[in-house]
Amino acid sequence: MIDYKLVCLIFLVFGFDIMKSQNINYKTLLGIEHSSLVGDSIPLEKNTFTAFEKMRKAALNDGIKIKVISGFRDFNRQKEIWNGKFLRFTKEKKLSGIDAINEIIRFSTIPGTSRHHWGTEIDVIDEKYKNEKNPLIAAKYENDGIFSKLKKWMDENSEKFGFYLVYTDDSSREGFEYEPWHYTYLPISKKYLNEFLKIDIIEIISKIDIEGKELFTEKFITDYLSNNLLQINRDLK
Ligand SMILES: [Zn+2]
Repeated sequence: MIDYKLVCLIFLVFGFDIMKSQNINYKTLLGIEHSSLVGDSIPLEKNTFTAFEKMRKAALNDGIKIKVISGFRDFNRQKEIWNGKFLRFTKEKKLSGIDAINEIIRFSTIPGTSRHHWGTEIDVIDEKYKNEKNPLIAAKYENDGIFSKLKKWMDENSEKFGFYLVYTDDSSREGFEYEPWHYTYLPISKKYLNEFLKIDIIEIISKIDIEGKELFTEKFITDYLSNNLLQINRDLK
């Protein structure tokens, strides 16, 4: 005779953990909490950190010093960025709410939808020019720009270490602008993206408390998902 109570108890104790290990906690995907971050000043997801260290050392051997200036970023930090930009664009530049939002989403994401929440993303510069003001400008990574040597090294080597550009310089790609500084650790972020897409994004975004939130209609969010969040390097989907 099977003791069903015992079976239920076993499932309650162990089954839940099994389910958790297959699915990434949605709080991690939204930047609310992250249980596997490594590193002090700029934390990264642990596998991303290990892979990055390998890549950093390889680059150093070739005379390139990669410096990460942005890695894991939580929901509240993204909210500060969002609200700061929204207020600047509406108050100083006198844009309408929707124009301000469209201006923000050229480069920044709605809190809860940033890939930086996952700890798998890095924005990189060449350490040699670490005091450069406004480093994240595409032209600085091209031709004879100050970060062009770094970019060339990354073009030739980063994928060997699992790091891929997200917002590529591809004319058929819409949404966020070209970001030659933003790389993702594909082996982990591809899984995260898959799980993220299972979340009810409309429900989540419509509930968050940020500037301009009254303009987030269902259509806006659906468009944002397909025209921004999913407009990434094809290899990452
Ligand atoms: Zn970035």
